[in-house]
Amino acid sequence: MQFTDLSLHHNLLKALDIKGLTEPTEIQKKAIPYGLMGKDLIASSKTGSGKTLAFLLPAVHRVLTKQPLSRRDPRVLILAPTRELAKQVFLQLKWLIAKQPLKAALVLGGENFNDQVKALKHHPQFIVGTAGRVVDHLKGKSLFLNGLELLILDEADRMLDLGFAAELRLVNQAADHRKRQSMMFSATLDSAAMHQLTQSLLKAPQRVSVGSSS
Ligand code: ADP
Ligand code: MG
Repeated sequence: MQFTDLSLHHNLLKALDIKGLTEPTEIQKKAIPYGLMGKDLIASSKTGSGKTLAFLLPAVHRVLTKQPLSRRDPRVLILAPTRELAKQVFLQLKWLIAKQPLKAALVLGGENFNDQVKALKHHPQFIVGTAGRVVDHLKGKSLFLNGLELLILDEADRMLDLGFAAELRLVNQAADHRKRQSMMFSATLDSAAMHQLTQSLLKAPQRVSVGSSS
């Protein structure tokens, strides 16, 4: 199977081609079709197996092909457990949307808050960030998630380990509406805390997993 067999927007196929990526990894093959169908998803596979593109490709595809629910609010929010991981996701997103009229903002703890407020005023379609700072912007009313179409939690198990359960609940409430799609990616699925998180965030989720979750 090749990326061209997945019905991805041609701008994405072009970006993948420029990067020299031709064949999806196992988790990408399993997760991307559900992501494109708009299904809620919980996916697990080991580190280095290509989970980032497994969620970024459906996310960008949606923004390129569907009308927004809101012109003002971000359409896709991706949360990562640490600043470093959020930056890595942001860099992959940037090359996927390069040369397209799409904007992404990086919202990290420990960085200047007012600079982020300014960036959010430009109405980025994508936000990548850490949960604590995203919640600060919700509370400060510099970020609204009423129009959010897709919520993605990358390394959800680590976010719980780092004590972000309350922040994830607040984000979930701020973006709570019928049309929202949610996807969780994780190395492990089986803890009680993970179970509780999937129950509160996901609607009838598809489960995909590659290899033994570790
Ligand atoms: P994970 O999140 O599962 O730990 P990443 O998404 O960070 O993995 O991907 C690990 C590396 O694999 C990255 O350098 C990424 O560019 C590369 N990669 C992702 N998908 C593919 C693919 N289909 N073919 C080749 N390399 C890929
Ligand atoms: Mg990852």
